[in-house]
Amino acid sequence: MHEHVLHHILQQLRDAAHDAGRPVPRLLAVSKTQDETAVANLVLQGQDAFGENYVQEAAGKRAAMAATAAAGRALEWHLIGHLQSNKAAEAAALFDWVHTVDRPKLVAALARHRGADAPLNVLIQVNIDDEASKHGCRPDEVPALAAAIAAEPALRLRGLMVIPTPHAEPEQRRPSFRRAKALFDALAADHAGVDTLSMGMSDDFAIAIAEGATLVRIGTALFGARARPA
Ligand SMILES: *Cc1c(COP(=O)(O)O)cnc(C)c1O
Repeated sequence: MHEHVLHHILQQLRDAAHDAGRPVPRLLAVSKTQDETAVANLVLQGQDAFGENYVQEAAGKRAAMAATAAAGRALEWHLIGHLQSNKAAEAAALFDWVHTVDRPKLVAALARHRGADAPLNVLIQVNIDDEASKHGCRPDEVPALAAAIAAEPALRLRGLMVIPTPHAEPEQRRPSFRRAKALFDALAADHAGVDTLSMGMSDDFAIAIAEGATLVRIGTALFGARARPA
């Protein structure tokens, strides 16, 4: 990838935030399926937060980054893919953030396998459009799940993550982003330290930012199309 791509995306994030009168969000570079060279390139340009969908793939990449020119840079690894409970131990040890906590069993499993000396940053994934096939808890389940997370010293509740129904027209996702922001504000009112609303991808991040995203997850627009689906 060329150097101007990261610069261009960061400029787009600033422009979208400025236009909407919102704070500039963090960029999470979604590196799933991308090779280590592509990740190292971004690290050398200053990007420090990466999103992965699979525990195994992230483990390999994280180890590879520790052994390259990028070594020594403090990187953050975020799990943004669905997490099965039987992978919770590995995920708790590997990631700095998990965006996809959506059930009490996962809260307990992650907490059990994480040391309280470096708490795991956790987002609750909400099924914001109530899609039958989707992961994420129902909006009305957020308060109880948040309380469960807040009670675990090994976990740090940071906010919410949503993936709206992928309507062909991104503008149709705006009401979902807006509902997510309202849920997020309610959560932040109840829990100190809630500061992250993870929403917006390559084709809709400007809309998500206008509606209050504090972190956007961008893959394709940064790296180009993925060679295989993930
Ligand atoms: C792949 C993925 C992204 C990035 O999507 P792009 O359209 O490539 O920007 C963001 N969030 C999640 C949960 C993903 O799985």
